[in-house]
Amino acid sequence: MNSLQQLIDLDRKHVWHPYAAMPNPLPVFPVRSAKGVRIELEDGRSLIDGISSWWTCIHGYNHPKLNAAARSQIEKMSHVMFGGLTHRPAIALAQKLIEMTPANLQHVFFSDSGSVAVEVAMKLAAQYWHNRGQPDKNRFLTIRSGYHGDTFAAMSACDPVNGMHHLFSGMLTPQYFADAPQVRFGEQWQAKDIESFARLLAEKGDRIAAAIFEPVVQNAGGVRFYHPEYVRRASELCKQHNVLLILDEIATGFGRSGKLFACDYADVCPDIMCVGKALSGGFMSLAATLTTTHISETFSAGEAGVFMHGPTFMANPLACAVSLANLELLESYDWQTKIAQIEQQLAQELAPCRDLDAVKDVRVLGAIAAVELHSPVDMATVQPLFVEKGVWLRPFGRLLYTMPPYIIQANELTAVTTAIYEVAAGL
Ligand SMILES: *Cc1c(COP(=O)(O)O)cnc(C)c1O
Repeated sequence: MNSLQQLIDLDRKHVWHPYAAMPNPLPVFPVRSAKGVRIELEDGRSLIDGISSWWTCIHGYNHPKLNAAARSQIEKMSHVMFGGLTHRPAIALAQKLIEMTPANLQHVFFSDSGSVAVEVAMKLAAQYWHNRGQPDKNRFLTIRSGYHGDTFAAMSACDPVNGMHHLFSGMLTPQYFADAPQVRFGEQWQAKDIESFARLLAEKGDRIAAAIFEPVVQNAGGVRFYHPEYVRRASELCKQHNVLLILDEIATGFGRSGKLFACDYADVCPDIMCVGKALSGGFMSLAATLTTTHISETFSAGEAGVFMHGPTFMANPLACAVSLANLELLESYDWQTKIAQIEQQLAQELAPCRDLDAVKDVRVLGAIAAVELHSPVDMATVQPLFVEKGVWLRPFGRLLYTMPPYIIQANELTAVTTAIYEVAAGL
C-alpha cells in the first residue's frame, strides 16, 4: 500500500483537479471518509465542511436514509438504459420535481450534470423556435457575473470576463450580455437596474431564443444577491418580446436561498428550469431540466419530430432513487426554520468582519454567506490555514464564502464563521 506522501505524489503527477494546473502546485488533501458535516482526512484530521462539497450535500455525508435508498436500489439494478425503457425511480422523481417546482413545469429531462442540464435547456429553447418556424431565434440573453457551467453552450452564457471567453473566441457563440443587477436583495428597487436587459430585448428580441440567468443569487460568478423585482420584470419583458425564460436553479434549488427555489422570491414561473447540485444531496451526479407543455407540444409538430438529445446514463436509477430519498428527507422537517436560523447566525457572527481592513463587504442570504475582500486570496496559503483551523472552505478570487449543510449545528457553524473571521483578520 502506498504511503500518504506517495499517494499525494501520484495525485500530483497524474490526476487533474478542477481549475488546476498539471502538475498541480497547490496543496490537495486526501480524504478517507466523511460523515454528517465532517470530512475525515487520511492523516487523521477532521474538518467541518462549510461549503457542502460545492452546494451539494445539504443533509451531510453518509446519511443513513440516502445510503438505505442506494442499497435498496443496487439490489434491484444500479443502471439500465433509458431509451425505450423506464423505471419507478425516474417516474417517482419526475413526479416529485413537478410537485415541488412552479406549477407550469410539467415535463422532466434528466441528465448527468448541471452543465448538461443547461445545454439541454438552451437546446430545448433553440429547437422550440425551430419547431415554430423561427430558426433565427437561436441566441441567448444573459446577465453579467453569471455562471452556468463549463461546457461550450453553458460557457457562452457565463460572465465573459470571469469565464475567460477570450481563450475560446471563435468557438463560443456570442450571446447578449445585460449589465449585472446592482440593486441588492433587501434594498429599495430602482427601475433603472433592468434598463440594459430591457434594451437588449427591444433591440435583439427577434434573434433571442431565451433569456438565461440565475434568479436572485449569482453563485459561482461572485456570490451576489440581487433584487427579486429584477427577476419579475425580466420575466414580464421576456413575455412581451416573445422570448423564453430559462432559470438556472442548479445552485439555489432546494432551499439554499431560504425559499425552495430562488424564483419563489419573485413568484415567477420560468418556461424552462435547471436543477442539479443538491438534487441528490451530494450523493452522486444528477441534474434535470424541466419545461412546460406549451414548449413540449411543439416538438411533435417540428421537423425532427423529437427532441434531439439523449445522454447514455440518462435517469440513472441509482441517482434517481437517492435523489427521491433526499427530496423526501427535505420535506420531512421544517427546513425553512433551519435555514432561517443559519441565516441569522451567519449574519450575526460574520458582521464583525466588516471592521477588518481586508474586508470590502459581508453579505448573507439563506444558508449562503460571502465575505468579499479588497484583493484576491492566495489559495496556496489560505487553504491550508482553514484546514489547520479544522474547517473546509474553498475561497475563490476575492471571496471567502460558506454554504454549510442544512444539518450543521450552531457550535459547528461558529467554528466556520470564526475561521473566516480569523483568516480575514490575518490578511
Ligand atoms: C455548478 C453550476 C452549474 C454547472 O453544474 P455542473 O454540475 O458543475 O456541471 C450550472 N449552473 C449553476 C448556477 C451552477 O452553480
